[in-house]
Order: sequence, then C-alpha cells, then structure tokens
Amino acid sequence: MAKSPEVKLAVFGRAGVGKSALVVRFLTRRFIWEYDPTLESTYRHQANIDDEVVTMEILDTAGQDDVQQRESHMRWGDGFVIVYDITDRGSFEEVGPLRSLLEEVKKPKNVPLVLVGNKSDLDHVRQVGTEEGERLAAEMACAFYECSACADEGGAVAEAFHEVCREVRRR
Ligand code: GDP
Ligand code: MG
Repeated sequence: MAKSPEVKLAVFGRAGVGKSALVVRFLTRRFIWEYDPTLESTYRHQANIDDEVVTMEILDTAGQDDVQQRESHMRWGDGFVIVYDITDRGSFEEVGPLRSLLEEVKKPKNVPLVLVGNKSDLDHVRQVGTEEGERLAAEMACAFYECSACADEGGAVAEAFHEVCREVRRR
C-alpha cells in the first residue's frame, strides 16, 4: 500500500489574529482563550480528505518580526494559511506583503494557500468587510473563509485546512 501523503502547512498572520486558537480548534475541536503568544509549535494530524488519508504537519508560527526565521518557515511549508482578524484592519493590510514574500521565497513555484478572516463572532466590532476578504482572495487566486476559532459552527476552520491540503495535492 502506498504511504499516505504528507503535507507541511504553515500558518501566518499578525500576532493576535488567532493562529494558535485556529490550529487548536482544528486539532481538538475546542477553543482555548489564552495561548502563549510567543509559543511556536508543530503538530501532526491525520485527516481523511476526499477518501485519502493525509498526514499534515502544521506549524503555528510566532515571532513574526524575525525576517530570516519567517523566510525559513516559508521554505519549509508546502501550503499556507494566511490569517487576519476581521476586527483588526492592520492585520488585513499585512496579508498582501506576506503573500508577496511567499511568492518571492517560493519562486518560481506558485504557492498553495488559503485566506482566513478570523473572529467572525465579533461582527459588532468588525473593521474588514466580508466582500473585502473575498476580493483580496480573488486577487490572490485562493479560497477564502471567514470563521471563528471560538464559535466554529459550520466547520469552516476544518474546511480551510482541508482545502489548503487539496491545493498542495493538486500541484
Ligand atoms: P496568535 O497570536 O495569532 O496565535 O493568536 P491567539 O490564538 O493567541 O489569539 C489571540 C487572542 O485572540 C486570544 O485572546 C484569543 O482568545 C483571541 N481569539 C482567537 N480567535 C478568536 C475568535 O475566533 N474569536 C474571538 N472572539 N477571539 C479569538
Ligand atoms: Mg500564537
């Protein structure tokens, strides 16, 4: 029997957007309110995606200020989840530069990624409209999910992680 494929995923985005909360939600279906913001971890996870067992290695990044480290994380990953916080416009504005750096580091390959607007439960303090996220994702030719690590009702968090795996497997 063929060995199950392995996919390396890295999660990027400004500090505080909820990267750790999303990863923990995906892995445990639970929400953890406080997660050490300086902690950087990798997790292994197996999932059945379209009738194929895929082993994911997920890197929850931190310490975004270290440019060299960021680039080495980008070289490491096969696929990427770029996260912003819908209540933090600055985090949305960081998406474009992150994407450009990814393209630069991965050149000439095109980069499998998904865009996630997190904290959709905080709609009353929203700073970034859903259509803005959709537009940016269309520009980046990637899938877009608005979701909430703390109130993940429709399973959008898992869907985002599965979709980036599919993107990697398609290349
Ligand atoms: P990271 O720095 O990107 O890893 O962000 P964290 O996962 O540490 O989350 C930063 C803060 O945002 C924490 O206080 C979390 O409780 C909170 N948070 C994360 N995701 C959500 C969410 O979907 N909704 C709400 N309301 N808070 C969230
Ligand atoms: Mg974190």
